[in-house]
Order: sequence, then C-alpha cells, then structure tokens
Amino acid sequence: MRFWAVIPMGDRFTRSGKSSGAPLGDSPSISQPIKPMEMHRRCAMNTRELVGFPCPECGHGTVRSTRILNYKTKIKGYPFVVDEAVIGVCDRCGSESFAPEETKRWEELFYRSLEARHALLSPQEMLELRTSLELSMEDFARLIGCTLQSILAWERPDRSAPPSRMADLLMKLLRESLRVGAIDVLPFLLNEAKKWGVVIELRRPSMNSAGDAAMPQDQRA
Ligand SMILES: [Zn+2]
Repeated sequence: MRFWAVIPMGDRFTRSGKSSGAPLGDSPSISQPIKPMEMHRRCAMNTRELVGFPCPECGHGTVRSTRILNYKTKIKGYPFVVDEAVIGVCDRCGSESFAPEETKRWEELFYRSLEARHALLSPQEMLELRTSLELSMEDFARLIGCTLQSILAWERPDRSAPPSRMADLLMKLLRESLRVGAIDVLPFLLNEAKKWGVVIELRRPSMNSAGDAAMPQDQRA
C-alpha cells in the first residue's frame, strides 16, 4: 500500500512512502489517507490531458499532473522504482492516471536497468554464444525455438527490444552448459529471478537453499 501527497507539478516534488498519508502540500482537501482500493483505479490518457481535468473516478476532484520521486511500480510483473515519475493524481480520491508516453518511458528505463544489472544477455554475448556453436542465425533460431527475425533483432547492438525473459533464460542455460557441463537448473533459475528483483520461495523447504547454492562463477550481477 502506498500513500503520497498530491501537489500540482511545479509547486514541489512529492514523495511516495509507506508510512505517511499526510500531504506535503497545503490543500485541506487531500489530508485524508488514500484507501487502498482507490489506489488501483487507473486509466490511460495523453500527457497533455493529464492536467486539470475532472476525475473520472469520483467525479468531484481534479486530476493533477504530479511528479513523484522513487515511484514504485511493476513492469511486466517485475518490481521497478522510477526515479522520477509523472502521473495524474486526483486531488480528492487519489486515483491515478497514467499517460502512455510516460509508462513507455518507464519500460525503457526498466530495460536499461536490466542491461546495467546484467539481467539479460547483451547482444554481444548472444553473438558470442551463437558463434561459439558455429551456428548460423537460422540454425540457432531453430535450436532454441524462436524465429530468425528474433535473433536478428536481439543481436543488434542498438536493439530496441530485448529477448523475452524465457528466451534469455534458455540461452543462458545453454551458455552455462557449454562452459561447465551439467548444470543444476533450479538454483540457476532462482538466482536469475533475483536479478529481476524477485525472490521465489519454494514450497518444499529443502529446495529453498538451492537459490543460495551453486551460484555460477561467471554471474556478474
Ligand atoms: Zn477522484
């Protein structure tokens, strides 16, 4: 559950936090903590429409373009903190609105952070893996079950779209097996999930230590 103050952009920055529902600004209409259910109401709209339109949720408030530092969100199901997010927030009910351009920017930031954390194979690493097998793009695509177009796109140094996480994991498993021989797949996958900010608890306790063991030596993240 998140609470934050609602302040028109330009006045000052707002900050999200778990503990405080108190506003940082001076409007008396926003002094009530926001109910959790209301936090999840959202709709998409253009950035220029984010300023000063009537709230479609409560019908009484006005949606203000609001800048929030360290905005916690999820991108494709994975946790991500946006350094500085701009969203629409109703000054009465606190419902959030998101501009497609802004959420697209978040996805690009997320992708860049994955690259920085080495949570995805880089285009160069993909190329090295494929050439170490002395396979053409076409054969490599058929080996891992994707399309030639995907390999072409993923190996581009300036690629705009990364491989799916499943394809990335398969290629990493392949690379690891070429390096060390037989590998323990479960701890490998658990460690990879951690790079994406996710700790997966297994129901069978004996398996939970798997994620802490056998960290591959070449994992740089
Ligand atoms: Zn509202």
